Amino acid sequence: MFGIWGHENASELTYIALHSLQHRGQNGAGIVASNEDYLFGARGMGLLNDAISKEQLESLKPFKNAIGHVRYATKTSSELANVQPILLKSYSGDLGICHNGNLTNAIQLRKALESEGSIFQTTTDVEVMAHLLKRSKARTNKDRIKSALRQIKGAFVFLLLQENSLTIAMDNHGVRPLMLGRIDDAWCVASETCAFTAIGAEYVRDIEPGEFITITDDGIDFDKYSYVEHPNLCSMEYIYFSRADSEFRHQSTYRIRKALGEALAKEFKHDADLVIGVPDSSLAAAKGFSTESGIPQEAGLLKNRYVGRTFITPGQEARERAVRMKLSPVRDIVEGKRVIVIDDSIVRGTTSKFIVRSLKKAGATEVHMGVSSPPLKDPCYYGIDVSTHAEIIASQKSVEEICEEIGADSLTYLSVDGMHDVYKQFGSRGECDACFTGNYPIEIVDDLLPQEKEQKSKGV
Ligand code: AMP
Ligand code: SF4
Repeated sequence: MFGIWGHENASELTYIALHSLQHRGQNGAGIVASNEDYLFGARGMGLLNDAISKEQLESLKPFKNAIGHVRYATKTSSELANVQPILLKSYSGDLGICHNGNLTNAIQLRKALESEGSIFQTTTDVEVMAHLLKRSKARTNKDRIKSALRQIKGAFVFLLLQENSLTIAMDNHGVRPLMLGRIDDAWCVASETCAFTAIGAEYVRDIEPGEFITITDDGIDFDKYSYVEHPNLCSMEYIYFSRADSEFRHQSTYRIRKALGEALAKEFKHDADLVIGVPDSSLAAAKGFSTESGIPQEAGLLKNRYVGRTFITPGQEARERAVRMKLSPVRDIVEGKRVIVIDDSIVRGTTSKFIVRSLKKAGATEVHMGVSSPPLKDPCYYGIDVSTHAEIIASQKSVEEICEEIGADSLTYLSVDGMHDVYKQFGSRGECDACFTGNYPIEIVDDLLPQEKEQKSKGV
């Protein structure tokens, strides 16, 4: 997500920022822009370039305020109606709204709202939030938004654009990241700091759990909607999701990943001739592993940059085909060598199985797999698509069984303690590790996976 208030190039900057955040979602993209009179939006399916045309971007040019979103969705919810930001028109004022994360009581709230006469056009959590806000009896706009926020549970960051203000709210666990930036005289926010680099903005600071920020033509107002804080930033943001040049608390994800690789090397018991990182997300961890172990790192796997993130591809056969298209071994480097492959995570095992097989086919004499995170065992209810228990290999099999299934000579995961020790080195305030430990920090009222929730709310 990206939002900006009071800049003459607001929509163009939003477009550029979203482009740098494309790795966070490829299902659809949208921008809603505003002036003091009304809101206007453009959105579409697919990558940003396909979702928003040059003409649409031109039509957003006169507006000085904007919010934008790239959508990361499960296959059941990939439809235009769900592409954010959604734009709602009403006599009391227009509203553009988008969020990152997942509400864990959205079905409960939606059922209650529907029983009182609300009609929904989408199956997204943002529409639930919009209804709660519009129904609030609180006197001021700010209090109406706060009262809506206090009814929702889950992991979320909301951007709400109205004619006179941009409101930013983060849940009191701070699971999904949001950063504050400054460009010329305007304030902006982005899911990752790489968006600030792309538009030439200054990265000011990380937005804190429970924060409630309002930006208007009069300036910026920092407030809280909740004073109870339980910081639980998503571990997967460090491990896999965020771009390596993006920063948390002014430290790059690259450095955190490198330290995770160093920690893994300390727990690793096998010797080899080479260390290979799975490009791109595991190159930093492989560098750390190589530095700590003294085993040289080589580019033994190459990535075709024109294939999307394989995990998102629906269907196992298509997923396997995509991994094959995406990664190839460099025979000349690996032939006759004992290699250690470092990946940041194993979900279904598709990627690691292919890598081990292809490296052996290319002549590697031993392939040892190192994973710079603990075994991923449980689904995420807070906005990352890590599938269902049935599909997650480590929730079905032991480490030894996974090693056998992927055909590796050994398999070593980083321990949960090892992972948290790294976070402490980087000034941790507390991270969510629920997909590794099953300790979910936020109540899951709906008791459903996002995919199942989506089907239920559609009446499937
Ligand atoms: P799999 O092939 O199903 O075992 O998935 C593991 C690969 O997907 C690893 O190479 C990770 O870098 C990547 N990955 C891990 N988590 C996610 C996610 N939530 N979305 C997309 N890719 C992921
Ligand atoms: Fe992140 Fe895992 Fe927690 Fe989900 S369960 S928020 S992926 S750490």
